[in-house]
Amino acid sequence: MTPDRWTVLKAGDGCVICGDAHLEENPFGYLVVELEHSFVRLAKNQYMRGWTTVTLKRHANELWELSDEELAGFWREVAHVGRALDLVYQPAKLNYGVFGNLCPHLHCHLIPRTYADDPTKPLNMNEQEVWLSPPEYAAAIGALRRALER
Ligand SMILES: [Zn+2]
Repeated sequence: MTPDRWTVLKAGDGCVICGDAHLEENPFGYLVVELEHSFVRLAKNQYMRGWTTVTLKRHANELWELSDEELAGFWREVAHVGRALDLVYQPAKLNYGVFGNLCPHLHCHLIPRTYADDPTKPLNMNEQEVWLSPPEYAAAIGALRRALER
């Protein structure tokens, strides 16, 4: 990654997330639901069961670029998804990750940590790749949608 290329991406020119965050399926995962400020997606890699992202609908790089109302709305939706994940997966702890290292479009990873995986160890999101069957993805998405309505 060159500084020039990164500057172009930060401006949203050719942003992959702008192009595919709303799609039913993209290389990263599946659309769970569209909220007012964000798209909620289930990651295809379910090494951490329930790994979900909340992606701001519009292109922005950093939290400080958002208006107060938009910022509150985005985090309210992150919290709403966190509650749904808690209902479905009963994690020991949720991890929230706002990185944007691969694509600088604002999004938050929500990663349920379990005792089986030792919630005290540092998070390595790419430690393993675990792919589910199509019915298993559908069941996970359905459970999350139902929990989001509760
Ligand atoms: Zn974007």
